[in-house]
Amino acid sequence: MTSNDIWVFIERDGDEIEEVSLEILGKASEITRAFGYSLTGVLLGTPNEEVASETIRYGADKVLLIKHEDLNTYSNDLYVKSLFDSINKEMPSAFLIGATPYGRDLAGRLAAKLRTGLTANAITMEMNEKGEVIFGVPAYGGKIVAEIVCEKARPQMSTVRPGTFNKVYDPKRKGKVNTIVPDLTKTQNRVKILERNVSKIKDLSKSERTIVGGNGTGGDITLVKRLAELTNCDIGVTRPLADRGLVPRDLQVGSTGYSLKSKIALILGVSGSEHFTSGIKDCGTVISIDLDEKSEIFNHSDYCIVGDVSEIVPLVIQKLEGER
Ligand SMILES: Cc1cc2nc3c(=O)[nH]c(=O)nc-3n(C[C@H](O)[C@H](O)[C@H](O)COP(=O)(O)OP(=O)(O)OC[C@H]3O[C@@H](n4cnc5c(N)ncnc54)[C@H](O)[C@@H]3O)c2cc1C
Repeated sequence: MTSNDIWVFIERDGDEIEEVSLEILGKASEITRAFGYSLTGVLLGTPNEEVASETIRYGADKVLLIKHEDLNTYSNDLYVKSLFDSINKEMPSAFLIGATPYGRDLAGRLAAKLRTGLTANAITMEMNEKGEVIFGVPAYGGKIVAEIVCEKARPQMSTVRPGTFNKVYDPKRKGKVNTIVPDLTKTQNRVKILERNVSKIKDLSKSERTIVGGNGTGGDITLVKRLAELTNCDIGVTRPLADRGLVPRDLQVGSTGYSLKSKIALILGVSGSEHFTSGIKDCGTVISIDLDEKSEIFNHSDYCIVGDVSEIVPLVIQKLEGER
């Protein structure tokens, strides 16, 4: 028997909560309020008390703290074991996880162990009167949003794309923290972390001004980089450029990359596939340059320039350098 409770995995790096966990809380709290459900933020390890308080301020009614020193750094073995036991005991109706590298790693194995369905990378989330969560996922090259419902198995699980939902914050919100201590004595942690390298690349979803290069740059992003330097912008790319290893994956914009929320975005030589445009829909002003006047990208742009990137960009750079 499932409870009328929705759980959100609160991913953290030390005492800093991942943005996507807060975004999921924001959307999930809207749903739980509308249907009289409760919302639980699930924390693992021994975080500072403030982390639990923040989880509540961002929308959770309560926090489930699965407390164990060994859970302070992510381990698939230990996290799956701890969450599997807690879920089997409490039987939440849904369990939502951010589609981060760790979140994706955790969700797949946990769903398989729970013998439940898992929706990957949801971009919409609603609930119906039957308590079914309807997850929306881009399909057919991103041309449609397919709705996925987990009809029978519980909990209903999904990973949620970062940058999709808005956070809500109420500094006065209060809630209870329930602490449990998992039994990890028989669980072997098969992965040892030898060294931790944190990417120094800025989180693109926080970029205020971004220049995105696509295939139309011919894969040479030297010009994009120079223009970005001169205009104090961050750089993003489309997936083909990241696939070719021309830039780190952390710079990819789109459904399997980052969602931009920039005030201004300049898009250079990008055709405008749905998988890409879903990553710029929350931008303020979008300016695009493309050779093809019928390019789909122009349907997602405020200013459309039909022209050759390799001719226009050097001229702009020349002018800006001249002004310095
Ligand atoms: C499951 C899945 C997930 C995906 N996720 C992503 C994602 O997160 N992000 C992403 O970007 N893609 C993603 N894709 C790929 C996506 O569908 C497109 O293939 C990709 O976005 C195309 O990149 P592009 O626009 O740079 O290249 P192209 O489609 O090749 O377009 C190049 C554009 O440049 C123009 N052009 C060419 N030369 C010039 C020039 N000299 N000057 C000006 N314009 C020029 C062309 O007219 C064209 O419009 C995904 C695909 C799948 C199947």
